[in-house]
Amino acid sequence: MSSQDDCIFCKIVRGEIPAKKVFEDEDVIAFLDIKPVAPVHVLVIPKKHIASLTQVDKTDALLLGKMLALVPTLAVAQGADDGFRVIINAGRVGQQEVPHLHIHIIGGPHPLGAMLVR
Ligand code: AMP
Ligand code: ZN
Repeated sequence: MSSQDDCIFCKIVRGEIPAKKVFEDEDVIAFLDIKPVAPVHVLVIPKKHIASLTQVDKTDALLLGKMLALVPTLAVAQGADDGFRVIINAGRVGQQEVPHLHIHIIGGPHPLGAMLVR
């Protein structure tokens, strides 16, 4: 599994900085966003360092499919039982801040203000 020394999400994967994990398996972890924009705000990341959706290709299809397929279960488990938004910010124009691929799950009882991640 590739990782990057100075990547904040790789540090979460390695347990070097704390996170409120809500799911983990051999390929993926999910944890609560540190600055939630809605009552439910979960990040789903690959354990392997992939910098951005701008960097993926078809060799990543299985992993990406697995991450997306986890979303509804994670969303409902966190209380987003009436739908949610899924956002992937990618690259400069996408205003991606953390350069490790992540899916935002945004929902909860009053998510309508969360039109965008920021
Ligand atoms: P993006 O703009 O898509 O790259 O968003 C990065 C997200 O990561 C933001 O919503 C941040 O609040 C979140 N974030 C940054 N550092 C941490 C951290 N240590 N633990 C949890 N979430 C974080
Ligand atoms: Zn990383």
